[in-house]
Amino acid sequence: MTLTDETRAVRVGVRGVVQGVGFRPFVYRLAHAEGVRGWVLNGPAGVSLHAEGAAEAVDRFLERLRSEAPAAATVASCEVTPAAVEGLARFEIRHSEERGAPTARISPDLCVCEACASEMREAGDHRFGYAYINCTNCGPRYSIIRDLPYDRATTTMRAWDLCARCAEQYADPLDRRFHAQPVACPACGPGYRLVAGGRTLCRDGEAIARAASMLREGGIVAVKGIGGYHLACDARNPGAVRALRERKFRKEKPFALMVGTLEEARSLVQMEDAHERLLTSVARPIVLAVARVDLSWVAPGNDSLGVMLPSTPLHLLLFDEGAPRTLVMTSANRSSEPIAYEDADAFVRLDGIADAFLVGERPIARRVDDSVISVDRVGGRTQPFMIRRSRGYAPLPVASLESDRPILAVGADLKNAIALVVRGEVFVSQHIGDLGEAETDRAFRETAEDLLRMYGVKRRDLLVAHDLHPEYVSTRSAMAFDAAERVGVQHHRAHVASVLTEHGLFDERVVGVALDGTGLGDDGAIWGGEFFVGSLRGGLERVGSIRPASMPGGDAAARHPAQALAGYLHTEEGVAALLAAPVEMPRRYFDAVQMVRHGVRCFETTSAGRLFDAAAAVCGFVRPISFEGQAAIWLEQAARLASGSPDPVRDPSLDPAGLLLALIAHRTAGVGVREAALWFHRSLAASVAARATGLAAEHACGTVALTGGVFQNDLLLSGVARLVEDAGLRAVVNRSVPANDGGICLGQAALASV
Ligand SMILES: [Zn+2]
Ligand SMILES: [Zn+2]
Repeated sequence: MTLTDETRAVRVGVRGVVQGVGFRPFVYRLAHAEGVRGWVLNGPAGVSLHAEGAAEAVDRFLERLRSEAPAAATVASCEVTPAAVEGLARFEIRHSEERGAPTARISPDLCVCEACASEMREAGDHRFGYAYINCTNCGPRYSIIRDLPYDRATTTMRAWDLCARCAEQYADPLDRRFHAQPVACPACGPGYRLVAGGRTLCRDGEAIARAASMLREGGIVAVKGIGGYHLACDARNPGAVRALRERKFRKEKPFALMVGTLEEARSLVQMEDAHERLLTSVARPIVLAVARVDLSWVAPGNDSLGVMLPSTPLHLLLFDEGAPRTLVMTSANRSSEPIAYEDADAFVRLDGIADAFLVGERPIARRVDDSVISVDRVGGRTQPFMIRRSRGYAPLPVASLESDRPILAVGADLKNAIALVVRGEVFVSQHIGDLGEAETDRAFRETAEDLLRMYGVKRRDLLVAHDLHPEYVSTRSAMAFDAAERVGVQHHRAHVASVLTEHGLFDERVVGVALDGTGLGDDGAIWGGEFFVGSLRGGLERVGSIRPASMPGGDAAARHPAQALAGYLHTEEGVAALLAAPVEMPRRYFDAVQMVRHGVRCFETTSAGRLFDAAAAVCGFVRPISFEGQAAIWLEQAARLASGSPDPVRDPSLDPAGLLLALIAHRTAGVGVREAALWFHRSLAASVAARATGLAAEHACGTVALTGGVFQNDLLLSGVARLVEDAGLRAVVNRSVPANDGGICLGQAALASV
């Protein structure tokens, strides 16, 4: 080797999701292509490499390193420092460095890639028809990892030894399967079997074909996917869907759909580019969009549908084998339990629901439910709006904090997710679910243990952040936790802090608006429509709220919109307004009025969720709800169909009784349900925006943060955001984590860190 003056050497540290996604072979191929010598290896913090050669070659190598990274990789930073020339003869992939405390990011699960999908369909290919085909660009990651570093021996694939052909590909740096940890083939890897009545009916290709035919005939099949079991049936067969509802005890909550192709998805829902980008992204989430077809049994009383594309090779094979072109694909569980992911457990819990089980032999290390996402226009362009953050996203970090202390934030009890802060990075777990049921509570504990173990965090160093509510399962778990220190964080402050953290706003003074169902306030009252002023680091002071009302009957007020209405309108005037058509209330309303008047089991609340329920009741939704947010969703959809509305009112004092009486007056004067619903949305948006902009002027703030589950209502969110922006202010909303309680853990972690 001759070293010329032009020979240049650099060391590069690449951080982000760069392990298990084909990054080293990518570097290797690049080095060969550019004639660069050196080495690359996986270290505890990411990928490290040394490159030397002619100066222009090294420059080109570095440029392509940044611009051509593999699709599944996320490069957070790429640090280049000059190094001494070592006079190396070639470029090589070296063994991983000894393990320090791991900070390398774990890749989320990836959908099957194009190359694998076509190999799988090519007769004569080594993996023809193989449901577990994968490569470094695709396949399971988070759902099979038992420990770090990410190596086959630490995944659920450790039980399968590679055959000679797979081993050769695994060892070849120029192969797409170089160090693809879950690599397997029909000769050496796991398979699928179809089980019914406790017996295995058939295996592999035959099992998949048989399952497809059962689905065609209207059967319900439990299908093991990446992060758990789904229950599948033909979405265009009302009888099959009805049977699924009855067996699953799921009255009206919409089911998600899976279709084989993007064209099929386009025929089902109205999509813009933003929807299609999400639908076809490697995360393969469920995307919510307005329906084009009537599948009312899939989503009763709901004009949106949740659609996803196949995420695993198995799904593709099912469609290839003639499964119905639109499948219901709902998380396999009973009602509100978390998704089943272990075979034995699935057999027990889904007994009587599934006619058969398509059981994959590869174990799932942890349950990872499907993610749900929609699209909004805040800020003048369409952007993703997370509803449920899980498969494909977890456990990626969502933000950075200036804190070296490990923090575990346990979230709230509904839509629970937890966060772990390691060296300033906030890793947010997959969606866990509603706590308070044995299965979900178990999932919660497992997830906490899991994150701590994987990132090597010692409990004695840990600060645990939890909600203020002493009765929350999450709070009680935090109390029982053997941690160094604990801190309680108020629910709505955590909501506001979650938005600020996502946007890196730590010191800016802002107005924070949190509209949601309920959360315990500083004063022991039930809050839910709150205004704050301050900064994340300096503290968020509560400066206002929706005017409080007295809710009768405890939790029942959250299930019965008519009962919530009584909380606002229990005066003579209110009751009288409700005696005349077209606003006729059921008996429950009048009984609830008596409860308020006698102070029976009443509590004060500023909840925006209850206000929406009450408005829905005025517009005709007077039956009990069967899932959280149902009445509000109904009201929003009615409003979307309106041709116009009377002029909205603007009431910065946010007096619910005033708004509701005016709503009743419109209905009584002959304004239609849809137009009245739209009037309510516009009026509430105008009132919330008026309060927020007033506070911004008073406290000299330039930014308004909008958060809380009620802001999942896009009509309200975009309405408030537009008015805030019209006033010359900036509106910020949640993007990476949900605005609902699924995002609380991020805010808790951030407030605990300052
Ligand atoms: Zn692949
Ligand atoms: Zn093999």
